[in-house]
Amino acid sequence: MSLEEYKAKRDFGKTPEPAGKTVGGEGARFVVQRHQASHLHFDFRLEVDGVLKSWAVPKGPPLDPGIRRLAVQVEDHPVDYIDFAGEIPEGEYGAGTVEIWDRGTYELQKRESDRFEFSLRGDRLSGDYALVHTRDKNWILLKRSPKPQVTWRKS
Ligand code: MN
Repeated sequence: MSLEEYKAKRDFGKTPEPAGKTVGGEGARFVVQRHQASHLHFDFRLEVDGVLKSWAVPKGPPLDPGIRRLAVQVEDHPVDYIDFAGEIPEGEYGAGTVEIWDRGTYELQKRESDRFEFSLRGDRLSGDYALVHTRDKNWILLKRSPKPQVTWRKS
């Protein structure tokens, strides 16, 4: 995984964001940052392969099953971005206010090139979610319904 695109967009002499480095190991944390930039959006990030896989979700992650939210994949971010909150100065990439909206851990259930399934354990988000690739950088973030309980009954 590479942070080239992340680094190319930013001047670390001007923005308080972490310059970052990739780290080894499989982490299992996620964060959602509310980012009041030119357009309000929520940045959804999963720690995978030593970076934060990242998606911008304009309407925010769904809290209930059955709601599908557009999630636009953006460049991988360094893992230390998981703690970032603050002001990105005017004129810099993503200028505006970043707040941590939710954070926690996740359990990966399925990982394919066009589909991630995982269970989130955060303060605001919990339960089973999926990210499904549609086209280009567009994905759909959705909350999956709990699996129906199978019960055996004598006939
Ligand atoms: Mn953002």
